[in-house]
Amino acid sequence: MKKVVKFGGSSLASAKQFQKVGNIIREEESRCYVVPSAPGKRNNKDTKVTDMLYATYALAEKGKSFSKELDQIKARYQEIIDGLGLKTDLSGEFKTIEKNFKAKKGTDYAASRGEYLNGIVMADYMGYTFIDAAEVIRFDDNGAFDAETTNQILGERLENEPKAVIPGFYGAKADGSVVTFSRGGSDVTGSIVARASKADVYENWTDVSGFLVADPRIIQNPEIIDTITYKELRELSYMGASVLHEDAIFPVRQEGIPINIRNTNDPSANGTWIVASTGQKSKYTITGIAGKKGFCSVMLEKEMMNSEIGFGRKVLQAFEDKGVTFEHMPSGIDTMTVLVHQDEFMNKEQSVVAQIQRTVHPDSIEIESDLALIAVVGRGMKSSRGTAGRIFSALAHANVNVRMIDQGSSEMNIIIGVENADFEAAIAAIYNIFVVAKL
Ligand code: ASP
Repeated sequence: MKKVVKFGGSSLASAKQFQKVGNIIREEESRCYVVPSAPGKRNNKDTKVTDMLYATYALAEKGKSFSKELDQIKARYQEIIDGLGLKTDLSGEFKTIEKNFKAKKGTDYAASRGEYLNGIVMADYMGYTFIDAAEVIRFDDNGAFDAETTNQILGERLENEPKAVIPGFYGAKADGSVVTFSRGGSDVTGSIVARASKADVYENWTDVSGFLVADPRIIQNPEIIDTITYKELRELSYMGASVLHEDAIFPVRQEGIPINIRNTNDPSANGTWIVASTGQKSKYTITGIAGKKGFCSVMLEKEMMNSEIGFGRKVLQAFEDKGVTFEHMPSGIDTMTVLVHQDEFMNKEQSVVAQIQRTVHPDSIEIESDLALIAVVGRGMKSSRGTAGRIFSALAHANVNVRMIDQGSSEMNIIIGVENADFEAAIAAIYNIFVVAKL
């Protein structure tokens, strides 16, 4: 059994958190590759080391003095080192960082130092080998992640390293210049390490006990999802649910390695399993609910639309020509509605409408803004009767007017459009009927 364990910033924000992490790693011999983030916030008012690095580097870039700011970053690490009773000396590293900041080595280099330094401390603390991600995670000359070269280099390196710490968030081009993933990218590194080491499990340790059925800002103490498939996760993440970086799915998915989301502050909780497929029925008919506000609908009506060949294509062409992506497109016999992101559409609205008028001559075009989309996702929906019926009666009871319905062709999701103002009430109604009332 081989596990890759990734720890997020809040799990490594202080010496006390490091100790919890140490206990978790030591508890299982199989936890052999560790991917740390940079130290995160110790409390609500605190600043993440990554953000401190971005701010410090911005001063350096402007040619301003940044020694005070760099000292504050150094103090964050020193507090951890002292609290753990280690002898790790980072002064040489900080001299190099200062020199490279002055030489304007780049924002990515600057941000990556958070993980780099935390990796050194972690390796020292655990007695594991430190592997600089710049040597094993490869980006191409355009700055895009090179998955296959990385898999080869990293795979070979790990064959000879039974226990190692590989810092998250960054890698380098062939010439050695550092490139980072987007924010939260240590999740991606963990997944890449899991793939290259052919791990059995990728454990992603954070500060929540798993992926929640609904947004905790809307539902108080929502239930945790036990098991979710990659596909379901993608649907929910796309609609705004976040626990894991979106790009963290692909490397492990290729190898069929499951991801287990765990809580550093509650290690006995099972967390959420993210798997390729499962015969395990989800606890409720639905797996999760997520949604986003801020959509616009463009509704076209034209008599005999159904018999006009190329109508849909010409309408969508107008959106494409103006560079607007569309989210959904429910249609009737003589009607067709295109849903788009409000912020993307607003300043292109008139030119899109003009092109539609010109190319398909609709009887009417109606635009409505301030709509929200809610995705109700669940692999169990396909085989259970009446799911849609229960959703809509719950919404009717909650006095929510449903503006649009779209069932994905996979029968794994139902998308519901409501007014922005009804968004929270709609999610609460759906949660209550499936999770609280267990219907
Ligand atoms: N430290 C980086 C960030 O704050 C990457 C990560 O934590 O995954 O975005």
